[in-house]
Amino acid sequence: MAGLMQGKRGLIMGVANDHSIAWGIARVLAEHGAELAFTYQGEALGKRVAPLAKSVGSELVVPCDVEDVASVDAAFARLDEAWDGLDFVVHAIGFSDKSQLKGRYVDVTTRDNFTRTMVISAFSFTEVAQRAAKRMKAGGSLLTLTYGGSTRVMPNYNVMGVAKAALEASMRYLANDLGPEGIRVNAISAGPVRTLAGAGIADARLMFSHQKVNAPLRRTVSIEEIGGSALYLLSNLSGGVTGEIHYVDSGYNIISMPRPDLLKA
Ligand code: NAD
Repeated sequence: MAGLMQGKRGLIMGVANDHSIAWGIARVLAEHGAELAFTYQGEALGKRVAPLAKSVGSELVVPCDVEDVASVDAAFARLDEAWDGLDFVVHAIGFSDKSQLKGRYVDVTTRDNFTRTMVISAFSFTEVAQRAAKRMKAGGSLLTLTYGGSTRVMPNYNVMGVAKAALEASMRYLANDLGPEGIRVNAISAGPVRTLAGAGIADARLMFSHQKVNAPLRRTVSIEEIGGSALYLLSNLSGGVTGEIHYVDSGYNIISMPRPDLLKA
């Protein structure tokens, strides 16, 4: 097991701090022998990401703001200076104005923030895939992070849910387009995790409580558990899997009528 990612080089996008889902994934991949590069958004986050990267043996830490095409191109150019190819990418990027992650979708959603949320949280995966695929051989693997608010209504998730629906659809189109080249594209749909992005959603703590009470496993998931599933999707273990949404949510997504026992009490 220890060498599952031996000889594989990959780009981790979306580490903000050591609570980030991308960081949980990076640690597990590094433990299994992957060589990693990291992107960060803005100098303040860069100062946090560099020491984390170093702790898993990576000095390749480059700025990348996915709202700016030139910044995405510059990040891949930096990668080209160090590496002659790429085996995998983890895309764990999302953003929306938090004033719109509160209240009724119908009331709070503006054109500007709808567009910005879509570009950062959905289109960026396609933008990255376009560049990454050119650097990959057969066996390459792309992974993004989504949430169940894409298909079912979560209070306050609002425009992020719409963006996640677009992200999941993009993932399937990319999987079909890149499949003939032997490149796989998948998504992990994670249950709620306490992160910077997660804290932007109003009443996030209620999402946690609801998960703990109603999910089959009666708990939330850790970033290491998400990392374990990412290891599977990025390694050759999942060689026959593409276009999939893999749920790491304590089973929450399978529930239709939560806990009738609580209603009887
Ligand atoms: P996080 O705040 O740790 O990570 C979000 C990352 O997005 C940050 O590193 C941030 O710098 C990056 N980002 C935002 N705008 C960017 C831009 N313009 N350019 C480049 N990077 C940008 O939070 P997280 O929860 O680890 O989020 C990672 C992914 O997981 C997101 O796609 C999120 O929607 C998804 N997700 C989170 C949860 C949860 O409960 N936390 C659940 C399911 C899915």
